[in-house]
Amino acid sequence: MKKEEIKIVDTTLRDGEQTAGVVFSKTEKVQIAKMLDELGVHQIEAGIPVMGGDEEEAIKTIVKSGLKASIMGWNRAVISDIEASLRCGVDAVAISISTSDIHIKYKLRKTREWVLENMVKACEFAKKHGVYVSVNAEDASRTDLEFLLEFARLAKQAGADRLRFCDTVGILEPFTTYEIIKKIVDEVGIPVEMHTHNDFGMATANTLAGVKAGATYVGVTVNGLGERAGNAALEEVVMALKYIYNVDLDIKTFKLKEICEYVAKASARELPVNKTIVGKNIFAHESGIHADGVLKYPKTYEVFSPEEVGGERQIVIGKHSGTHALIRKFSEYGIQLTEEEATELLKSVRALAVELKRPLFDKELMYLYQDYLKQKAETKGV
Ligand code: MN
Repeated sequence: MKKEEIKIVDTTLRDGEQTAGVVFSKTEKVQIAKMLDELGVHQIEAGIPVMGGDEEEAIKTIVKSGLKASIMGWNRAVISDIEASLRCGVDAVAISISTSDIHIKYKLRKTREWVLENMVKACEFAKKHGVYVSVNAEDASRTDLEFLLEFARLAKQAGADRLRFCDTVGILEPFTTYEIIKKIVDEVGIPVEMHTHNDFGMATANTLAGVKAGATYVGVTVNGLGERAGNAALEEVVMALKYIYNVDLDIKTFKLKEICEYVAKASARELPVNKTIVGKNIFAHESGIHADGVLKYPKTYEVFSPEEVGGERQIVIGKHSGTHALIRKFSEYGIQLTEEEATELLKSVRALAVELKRPLFDKELMYLYQDYLKQKAETKGV
């Protein structure tokens, strides 16, 4: 697995926006594209040009924004779709057509031959106009493998630059994914992009399995935004490649939290506090053992530092806290607790945290401390 070979393709602006109930304004689309470009993604799937109107305007503006990333338009395998993409000035097109029998029979109401013919026609048309082409096998994961291989071979012959392998309904798991992708890479030799969905919570795992099998493009969205349970999340895939596979793609990861929060707002999908990589609580430690470890040496309980993804470490004082964390917390306010004081104070901290069913605010800690001092003075006075 070589880092030079692996490229991030972000489709937040296409598959992400396709999510039921999500709409980006033109300003938001352009802003997200700029942020993705600053992050350093290789390609941005900016939308669906044939929709026209605001969508077309947004794509045109993104194309003219002078970004370093390649800008891709999404199309059905229909010439007029591709013409709309060309009018927007994109340098790359995705040409999508279903390859599974269930889609061919019940959705398209056509035949496998019809699918091959239209894919080839659309691909040749796009190549004639000098754009980069990704041929997308929609519902590839439920496609008869022999047919999928034939589809991929014909796409390659028609000049396609890569094959997007779509696990459209998120039905795969990593072991099967590995086998299928390996077969396509070995037998057809066309560059493969992983496009996975998270219906069983395996989008990122399946993407990594595909990469391990030789796929070189990874399709992702910010926050994993996408239809139903979403797509593979950009932030997960980038950090997992870096820390699990040792493949550093030189993405400016310290900007991840910023873009994740922006997309969360724009899509009206709040980030859960335990959201992988960028959630508010990812670097929050409360348990005495964990907080103690992290305060002594962060790598004891953190794989990467909060700063690396634009986050912040928090030592939360609550029911599970220990004396070390409490001493550290008070020292932030210039108060040096002795070990004995911390042990005493911890009792009231625990009691209050249980009563309130949450960790304590710093201010509450200060009140507890004042009460403790008062009590101590009174006891002494007696
Ligand atoms: Mn999709």
